[in-house]
Parts: sequence; structure tokens; C-alpha cells
Amino acid sequence: MKKIEHLGIAVHNMQDSNKLFEKLLGVAPYKQEEVASEGVMTSFFQNGPNKIELLAATDPTGPIAKFLEKKGEGIHHVAFEVDDIKAEMERLKHEGFTLLNEKPKKGADNKWVAFVHPKSANGVLVELCQEIKE
Ligand code: ZN
Repeated sequence: MKKIEHLGIAVHNMQDSNKLFEKLLGVAPYKQEEVASEGVMTSFFQNGPNKIELLAATDPTGPIAKFLEKKGEGIHHVAFEVDDIKAEMERLKHEGFTLLNEKPKKGADNKWVAFVHPKSANGVLVELCQEIKE
């Protein structure tokens, strides 16, 4: 694990939250991207070497909608940057963590991503992400 790449924050209203985080961080979001397979709209802010990813539901039955319903707004996941996501997934499996994905999948912001189940990580949904290089 190289560093915290971003924090994912679940929000009800993307427009309002974009304005709020623009005020908070003093910078506008540099990218907005829908991940249709996850039923989520994302918005990214750069903050020094790290990023903030806002997540709003686009599918009322998707994982973000369910999270908002159960827990309300707030920190949804912590994402760590890795060099070799497959090797890192193997390592974590051997360490006894439960992975939510069999294989890396394409996430937002040009990344391969995989998730560790929060039940195996003290209640924290952990994302591994590796930049996609063509
Ligand atoms: Zn993320």
C-alpha cells in the first residue's frame, strides 16, 4: 500500500455537496464521472497528494443508495494506492481479509479497483486502486 489515494464520501445531493466541498477545500472538482455499473455519480477534488471523492446514488437500489439509507451521509471508504492490485489482493486474502471482488474492476478516475469487506477491516470499507496505464 503506497498511500491514501482518496477518501470516498457519500452524499445525498451532488450539486449541493460540490459547492460545499469547493468552499471547504478552496478548489473546484476536477472531474465528474458516472460509474453506471455501481449506480453512482462521482466527483473528484484534489487536495495536496490526496483526493476527495464524493459519491451520490444514481440507482436507488445500488450500493451508495443503500449506504445512505442505512448510515446517512459521511465517509464511505478509504482508498489506498497500490502498484500491483492483483498481488495486493492475493496478499490480503492470505492475511485473512475478505475481498468483495474476485478480480479488479474498472472504477472511476482511470483506476482498477477492488474492495475489502468492512466486516474484515474494523468496519472500514477499504478500496485498493491502481492507475490504469495503457
Ligand atoms: Zn473510491
